Amino acid sequence: MDLNSVNSEAPKDPDMYFRLLSSSSGPRLGRLALNKVTIDTPSFIAPASRGAVPHLSHDNLRDHTDIKGIYVALEDFVEKYPPNVPIYNQAAGSLRNFTSTPSESLLILSGRRVPPVTTAASNTDHSLAILTSVGFRMLPIDDYVSVVSRLRPDIVLGLPDIPSNTPGKHRGPKMVFRTDLWLQQLLNKTIATADYTPHIFAPLLPLDFEQQSYYIETLTDKIDKLSGLALYDSALATELPEELEKLPRMSVDDAESPHKVLQQVRWGIDLFNLGFITTATDAGIALDFEFPRPTAAGEEIRPLGVDLWGKEHATDLGPLGQGCNCYACRRHHKAYVQHLLVAKEMTAWVLLQIHNTKVIDQFFAAVRGSIERGSFEEDVAIFGKFYESEMPERKGQGPRLRGYQFKSQGGTGKKNPKSFTKLGAAGVPAGDMREELDEAVESGVKEVANGLEGGFAERLS
Ligand SMILES: [Zn+2]
Repeated sequence: MDLNSVNSEAPKDPDMYFRLLSSSSGPRLGRLALNKVTIDTPSFIAPASRGAVPHLSHDNLRDHTDIKGIYVALEDFVEKYPPNVPIYNQAAGSLRNFTSTPSESLLILSGRRVPPVTTAASNTDHSLAILTSVGFRMLPIDDYVSVVSRLRPDIVLGLPDIPSNTPGKHRGPKMVFRTDLWLQQLLNKTIATADYTPHIFAPLLPLDFEQQSYYIETLTDKIDKLSGLALYDSALATELPEELEKLPRMSVDDAESPHKVLQQVRWGIDLFNLGFITTATDAGIALDFEFPRPTAAGEEIRPLGVDLWGKEHATDLGPLGQGCNCYACRRHHKAYVQHLLVAKEMTAWVLLQIHNTKVIDQFFAAVRGSIERGSFEEDVAIFGKFYESEMPERKGQGPRLRGYQFKSQGGTGKKNPKSFTKLGAAGVPAGDMREELDEAVESGVKEVANGLEGGFAERLS
């Protein structure tokens, strides 16, 4: 297939274009180019925490990964009330400066993380309920619109009105009404300048197609102002009207395993905001799968990753993944990473994140190859036969948890156990421990003194 000829069109926007390189429905190949970053789709972007991909410094991101897009949530940055929000007071065009993101990765701004933590209050017609690092706040929609104009992210997602509970009979229509209203605000009020065009992705709600069919119809009228779609329910990709098929589709519908990613690719998703890379890394799991089948022989069903907390890896000098050529696998082995995990040394998670990102990158490259060959359906069936359907269970401890990583519930205990306790707190009375310590020091001093007697000490005298 000539990847540059099929369905290619002259881009209407000089900064950004999305070209479909295959059929427009079902699993599809495309190429998204924006601000000198080119992404062959299907592919993935990584969710960020306060502007950084967890465990990766920006130079690691640039030098050791192929992450070409970062999903940034505004709720990470608005811990104070306006006008004292540092990110609101930056010079124009500075989200990239503020987060120091390398120019090799696109910055995609949205209101909330995926999946969002349930908030205490509900959204209103004019504001979104968010969780900041110091508590719940309401984010006025007008503030989001003005932040977009000022910070100029490469791609901006329209805000969806999604309640924390399953919507009832009346809530569904209200979700559609508000999402439409907020999108119109974003489209009409975001300021384009000579050197900045806002690239807005319209959100599609996690509702049946019929419940939001009116809203989706109106999107076809706004298509000239839209750069893509953000799907909170990926299955909607199969029902979209023909006019919208040429827009890139980003899944913000948490795909928690490679099997779910393949399902969504089948529905026609182009770009995935993929949270399970970091979830696996946090759990100490080195992803270990290839699409469509493992290179190593054997018919047994394999786990999707290796839990490096396991003691059996303490002497394993093999790489994190067989045949992997990532920085972590070229330089280190399982035993080293296992040791780092046990020592709670944060380099463990850095190396794991670099490795896991590489596994995912190669997975998507293989998926694209499979679609191009026309063997996608057979390959998905083969993958299903060789690999377990769920990610390995989390067994060991992860890095210190943050507030956004668990649901807010009253009455629950501390999430992070104390790492250090007072002397004697672990069952030994403090007095006994003190004596033991004194004895140990004393005998140590004697040993050193004895060692010195024959050599250094004599020469001194
Ligand atoms: Zn590796």
